Amino acid sequence: MATKITPRSEDYSRWYTDIVQQADLADYAPVKGCMVIKPYGYALWENVKSGLDRRFKATGHVNAYFPLFIPLSFIQKEAQHVEGFSPELAIVTVGGGKELEEPLAVRPTSETVIGHMYAKWIQSYRDLPLLINQWANVVRWEMRTRLFLRTTEFLWQEGHTAHATAQEAQEETMRMLDVYTEFAVEDAAIPVIPGRKSESEKFAGAVNSYTIEAMMGDCKALQAGTSHFLGQNFAQAFDIKFLDENNDLQYTWTTSWGVSTRMVGAIVMVHGDDQGLVLPPKLAPTQVVVVPIWKNEDQRVRVLETVARVEAALHEDVRVHVDDRDEYSPGWKFNEWEMRGVPLRVEVGPRDVEQGQAVLARRDVPGRKGKGKGKVSVPLDGLAERVQHMLSTIQTDLYRRALDFRQAHTYDPQDYAEFEEAVSEGFAYSWWCGDADCEAHIKEDTKATVRCIPLEQQSDKGKCIHCGGEATERAIFGRAY
Ligand SMILES: [Zn+2]
Repeated sequence: MATKITPRSEDYSRWYTDIVQQADLADYAPVKGCMVIKPYGYALWENVKSGLDRRFKATGHVNAYFPLFIPLSFIQKEAQHVEGFSPELAIVTVGGGKELEEPLAVRPTSETVIGHMYAKWIQSYRDLPLLINQWANVVRWEMRTRLFLRTTEFLWQEGHTAHATAQEAQEETMRMLDVYTEFAVEDAAIPVIPGRKSESEKFAGAVNSYTIEAMMGDCKALQAGTSHFLGQNFAQAFDIKFLDENNDLQYTWTTSWGVSTRMVGAIVMVHGDDQGLVLPPKLAPTQVVVVPIWKNEDQRVRVLETVARVEAALHEDVRVHVDDRDEYSPGWKFNEWEMRGVPLRVEVGPRDVEQGQAVLARRDVPGRKGKGKGKVSVPLDGLAERVQHMLSTIQTDLYRRALDFRQAHTYDPQDYAEFEEAVSEGFAYSWWCGDADCEAHIKEDTKATVRCIPLEQQSDKGKCIHCGGEATERAIFGRAY
């Protein structure tokens, strides 16, 4: 295995690609724009999935599956929708050796087909709310590929709900934004800013789009999840109506929300370092790796005996892996598991066996030679508790570190010159008038966009950082992935 990672400071983008490939997360597919998610990357995605899925179910949602092919006419039904997707659509025109009567789109999202089905399924207020989520792949044609961040086909979940009132649908939109925030913070250890998208950045066809925005290790923004209040736009396009309690026919109010495999890219970029991946314990496919150390056969037998006890003590509560391969040295193994971001390493050598102890080394704290705070000897008695405690400390510390980093790179510029500098180095948190032209000028000048208008606002007023106009809200500006 080649273990040469480009340093982050030298070329962040190459650093990212090196890690994704060398830590065995993904590889390029023969079709341009597509990626192969390798078993280790998929295991990480599965943990992302289960953390989200558990929360969706706890908030009353159920899973279903809708087809990959969508009649092109469905997508054309909603004008704004087609505008949002048309250059990205992949379209099938031949099937079974014959030209199709109607071309089929490979779903860019299932919004339209779900709208069509909801119109059939929803008759009365008793059928509402309808709360369905789908785990699926979608296709949006891309010219440039960045593994996990920008690929033609990617995996995601899309939630689609229908409600009797605007208020219920709005509440659902915010509830799912909260679910995403909680997942990002608690499981992925990624601090996010929940907020509203500007008019020009929102999902085509939505009344309002909400997002969780995160700062990556190069200070650029990444939209890590979105939740849309669709009003009655889709209900009108797809004729989703219900009889209310007074027997009046009404359009439903709908929402949709999604998180994709981009989240894996975010985890890499927020926590990784020059040694490789650093994974938050809650999502790490392997939380603890045990590396036995021996020099001769006699030591090997005694060390492996202790290692077996360590594994037995841990395996019920912790995802533990014992690396007892003969053909690699301990140092080589340390490097490999560091590259793969395993949060905690347990070392057991002959001296540890004699003293009834093991060495714990944290991935997130340097100190490999035992000099730093990252490496401690602990007694085998009570090891399981000690390990669990350390994993939860690592989880908290990773979050704390990412939050400190974001705060250190979020600025409050006093004028437009300072603003331009701020967005080249991180986020600017500035008064903004809300005007689309003003936003377009800022983007032209600085390549920065309104990432979101944070939900949390102070109740005062200011002057727009660009045009000086009256502003009632502050926005987060930054360059984005
Ligand atoms: Zn302005």
